[in-house]
Amino acid sequence: MKERVYIAFGSNVGDRLGYIVRAVEELKALGRITGVSTVYESPAWGVKEQGDFLNGVLELYTNLQPEGLLSELKNIEKKLGRKERARWGPREIDLDIVFYGDLVYESDELTIPHRHMHERDFVLVPLIELAGDIKHPSLGVNLSKLLGWTELKLKPFACLL
Ligand code: ADP
Ligand code: MG
Repeated sequence: MKERVYIAFGSNVGDRLGYIVRAVEELKALGRITGVSTVYESPAWGVKEQGDFLNGVLELYTNLQPEGLLSELKNIEKKLGRKERARWGPREIDLDIVFYGDLVYESDELTIPHRHMHERDFVLVPLIELAGDIKHPSLGVNLSKLLGWTELKLKPFACLL
């Protein structure tokens, strides 16, 4: 398995932890999962009038290329029953590519590193759990520094391991 990638997962509809557990099971088909962070609960980001989110990050070694990985993530979201809603709206399950090795990539469909990860405590905290204080490949700043600039609203909710 060539590339080390970090996938952020989130849910704020229905059986939130159940969706996350099922997503982790499905993600096993895409490579080798070598770490799953604590699951954190936090108020919704962006569009605030919606249920609280559960979020976390996992580490995956995969042979898939970025666009192929994205389409597999979208397939899993659909399979688990994610309904089409507004951007930043409620979702049964959301799977985002945070880092793909130290690749910096931009297309119409995909931005790597994820466009908003550096301002989201619910991505940075679980990512640091797994990856340590590594540098953001395009901002050139350590994750702990980014976290220091972020408002912390999350609290630990569950541990899947
Ligand atoms: P959100 O930005 O809240 O995760 P969606 O899950 O609805 O919203 O994603 C919208 C689109 O974002 C996807 O269809 C995908 O093409 C695009 N996208 C861009 N960069 C990424 C990334 N790094 N990971 C996942 N999706 C991404
Ligand atoms: Mg998404």
